[in-house]
Amino acid sequence: MAADPFRGDEPLEPGSVIGIIGGGQLGRMTAIAARQMGYRIAVLDPAEDSPAAQVADRVVVAPYADRDAARELARMSDVLTYEFENADADAAEAAGELTPLMPSGSVLRTTQNRVMEKGALRRNGLPTADYRAVTSESDYMAGLKEISGPWVLKTATSGYDGKGQVVIKTADGGEAYRQLEGRSPALILERFVPFKLEMSVVCARDGSGNVRTFPASENIHSNSILDTSIVPARVAPHITERASDLAIAVAESLDVVGLIAIEMFLTQDDELLVNELAPRPHNSGHYTIEACHTSQYEQLVRVLCGLPLGSVEMQQPSVMVNLLGEVWVDTANKPDWSGALSVPGASLHLYGKSEARVGRKMGHITVMADTVEEALARATESRNRAWRRA
Ligand code: AMP
Repeated sequence: MAADPFRGDEPLEPGSVIGIIGGGQLGRMTAIAARQMGYRIAVLDPAEDSPAAQVADRVVVAPYADRDAARELARMSDVLTYEFENADADAAEAAGELTPLMPSGSVLRTTQNRVMEKGALRRNGLPTADYRAVTSESDYMAGLKEISGPWVLKTATSGYDGKGQVVIKTADGGEAYRQLEGRSPALILERFVPFKLEMSVVCARDGSGNVRTFPASENIHSNSILDTSIVPARVAPHITERASDLAIAVAESLDVVGLIAIEMFLTQDDELLVNELAPRPHNSGHYTIEACHTSQYEQLVRVLCGLPLGSVEMQQPSVMVNLLGEVWVDTANKPDWSGALSVPGASLHLYGKSEARVGRKMGHITVMADTVEEALARATESRNRAWRRA
C-alpha cells in the first residue's frame, strides 16, 4: 500500500516511485531532483521520447485523457503529481483513486479554468482584475459596459503563453467575441491592467499545512511568453512580503498540497492582483535550482514523499533567461554553447527536445552574481552568445 502523507504515514522510502502526468521540462527537472534523492520516476506522456521520459525509469506512452493509461501509471507509482495544468482532470482523478494525487484533482480542475480560478480567488477575498464570465455575445457586450477598458478577452480553458487571448483597446461590435467563440466552453473578459511589473511566487505546502515561499521573481514577458526572471524582484521589500503573504493565502484557500505558482500584476498604485495560478513547478522558479538551498523541484519531491520542507534561502541574486526555438532557428540548429558558457556564472539547461519551433521552450540559462544588475547583464550576454548575436 502506498504511503499517504495525508494519513500521517511514514515518508516514502527512497526507491519508491513518483508518477508524473506530463513529460515536459518541468517533469524532467522534477525527475532529476527525485533521482538525486534516490526515488524512481514513472511518466505518462503521448510522446515516447519526451523531456521527462529521457530521465525516467518507466514511461507510459498514451494520450493524457486515456484513463486506463493513467490507472496504469498509478499502479506503478507510490504517489502521483502532474506537471502542467491542462492535464486531463478525469484521467488524473481516476488515477488518484488508486494512488495519492498531489495537488488534488479539485485544485487541478479549479486552476485549469480561468472562470473557476478567478471565482475561487474572489470567494476567498483575494484580489484579481475585474472580470466577467462570457458565454454569449450579449454577455460580452454587457461586460464591455460594466468593466472599464481596455480589456483582455481570454478562453477559460486550454490557454497558455498568451494563446487564446485578444486585447481590446476600444469597445467593438462583438468582433473579439466572434474571434474566440467556440474555442472553449466559456470565455472571460478582464480589465486590461496597466501594470508596473509582473511578479510570481512559488509556494510549497505540505500535507500538515506547513508552507514555504520562494523569493518573489520579477518577470518580463515577450509575446506573452516568459522571457526573463529577475530575483530578487526590483521592488520595495514590503511588496515582496505582500506577494509572499498573498501566495500563502492562495495555497491555503485552495488547500494545495504540493507546489503552486502565483502570477501577479503590480499595479501603478502598488496593489497586487493575482493573474494566474499554476499548481506545479513554474518557469519563473527555474532559478531556484542554482540560487536556493532547496530548488522548487526538490521541494515538490519532499512534499510528495512526506519529507520536511527545505530551506528556500537564496545564495545570491540570480537571473534566468529562457531559450526559445528562435535561438535554434536563427542559428540553423547550431547555437553557440561554448560562447554561452564562457560567461562567468552561467548555467545551461537544455530540455532534450529534438525539434525547435519558434516560441517553443527549449532550455534556459541561469546566472548568479553579486548584484541583480550584473546577473541580468551576464544572463543577457550568455543568451546573446548562444544566439550568435554577441
Ligand atoms: P496569462 O495567460 O493570463 O498568464 O497571460 C499572459 C500574459 O498576458 C501575462 O503575463 C500578461 O503579460 C498579459 N496579460 C494577461 N492578462 C492581462 C490583463 N488582464 N492585463 C494586462 N496584461 C495581461
